[in-house]
Amino acid sequence: MVVRQCTSRGITSQLCVRLKEPRTQGRQDMARHSSELAEFRDVFSKAKHVAILTGSGLSAESGVPTFREGGFWRKWQAQVNTSLLSQNPSRVWEFYHYRREVMLRKSPNLAHLAIAECEARLQRQGRRVTVITQNINELHYCARSTNVLEIHGSLFKTSCMSCGNVAVSHKSPICAALEGKGAPEPNTSDAQITPHHLPMCEQGGCSGPLRPDVVWFGETLDSDILTRVEEELDRCDLCLVVKEFVSVCLSVCLSVCLSVCLFHFHGPCGTTLPPALARHETEAN
Ligand SMILES: [Zn+2]
Repeated sequence: MVVRQCTSRGITSQLCVRLKEPRTQGRQDMARHSSELAEFRDVFSKAKHVAILTGSGLSAESGVPTFREGGFWRKWQAQVNTSLLSQNPSRVWEFYHYRREVMLRKSPNLAHLAIAECEARLQRQGRRVTVITQNINELHYCARSTNVLEIHGSLFKTSCMSCGNVAVSHKSPICAALEGKGAPEPNTSDAQITPHHLPMCEQGGCSGPLRPDVVWFGETLDSDILTRVEEELDRCDLCLVVKEFVSVCLSVCLSVCLSVCLFHFHGPCGTTLPPALARHETEAN
């Protein structure tokens, strides 16, 4: 149930042309990789403001089910929208409860850790790293990144459909009725939890129904986040795209981005990112 929204095919195509060169094998591939890394390290050593765009491939290396196109939960294609929420809030919450519980057992991988270490190190040098992520699992925060823009929201936030309040919740389960629910196997029956036993707003006696604070298919991205993304991409002098960042509604931002240094490495990011973002010999500390 990949949460997808209005895809900008134009910009996706541009990225593919620029970033996804045909993979070659053997020594040729290694030579090209080495030269790409050397070129990246040279640009990286001089960059003052680095933007790192991350997507589902990064999560997959932590063993997170990504529910990309064609993915299923139970017997349904894993794609949520607001009409499904109004028709069957119990099923939607079972799915998100499952995803939250899975994430509580996952850890950031070497790529998440390399990005966080790089942010802290460059910050001490008066430089800046910003993570712009499509992922909703908070693994960047688990790795101790602090400057993170979650453009699709978070599994661990809720928004109230009555008062609009956004709240953080890492409770397990998020409400008592979801205890032991959400199993992903195709033959599992719906729990059919009544609405007043599903998560409800605790803001000032509101008690309105809550939904996961994530962007679903057909919804637009949060305009404040988009503005901040545009600002970051406008300021950056180096942009690194990390696996499967298929952006969406970011055509303006990425058009700006395409005019700066933009890199993509092949292979598992847990292998490619640590040496790419490690301390450069020109760094003072
Ligand atoms: Zn409320």
